[in-house]
Amino acid sequence: MRGFDLFTFPPFGFSIVRIAEIFNSLQGEGTLLGTPSTFVRTSGCNLRCVWCDTPYASWEPEGSEMEVSEILGQIEAHGSRHVVLTGGEPMMAREVHVLADRIRETGHHLTIETAGTIAPEGMACDLVSLSPKLANSSPIGKLPAAWVERHEARRWQPGVVRDWMQAAACQLMFVICSEDDLGEMESMVGELGGDIDPHSIFLMPEGVTNETLRERAAWLIDVCRERGYRYGHRLQIELFGHTRGT
Ligand code: SF4
Repeated sequence: MRGFDLFTFPPFGFSIVRIAEIFNSLQGEGTLLGTPSTFVRTSGCNLRCVWCDTPYASWEPEGSEMEVSEILGQIEAHGSRHVVLTGGEPMMAREVHVLADRIRETGHHLTIETAGTIAPEGMACDLVSLSPKLANSSPIGKLPAAWVERHEARRWQPGVVRDWMQAAACQLMFVICSEDDLGEMESMVGELGGDIDPHSIFLMPEGVTNETLRERAAWLIDVCRERGYRYGHRLQIELFGHTRGT
């Protein structure tokens, strides 16, 4: 990792991003599972998934605006080579392109975790973790009809997901609630076209307790073995429970 020097670094003092939290932990999901990483969670999301596990960055966004230099300073202080830009929806954050460029210029490996509803438009990263949302995410009954319609219209945009898949190394993460979701998930993958390696597709059980995850894992594991997908463990729940900053 290259050193970070506030005095010699190119100027970017006016670039600002709204941040819900910055913390260091282990990556709990996907191909980099277990990798020490600094997480930069932006605040704000264009979806309202009913089971969202970070409502403080979506349904009721919290946080404050930080200059890119300040964010980079915190990343350097944590000392991990791997950085994860997550949300909320990080692609909604003003100046996210500037932040991503600076993170990579300082020698970090950058993962972007996005729902794939906003095009990359030149965004550079080392890994994009795409998590398109299935119908099980609908906030129906929890929010007014206008928000439900907005969520439905936005959650699945195959053209945008394809753009991301061409822009960077990627993994596809699907949140699965029941076996009924599998047909929809496979039809979404089919819509993406091409020859997508099932090994790049993770099926993550929905849930924020070990009990729920184990219940869903019981049948999801067999689905993965039979169809070649990867089981999407959620290590952070197992290690820390559903706790902020982990
Ligand atoms: S896309 Fe992610 S952050 Fe946004 S509401 Fe859904 S689960 Fe929450």
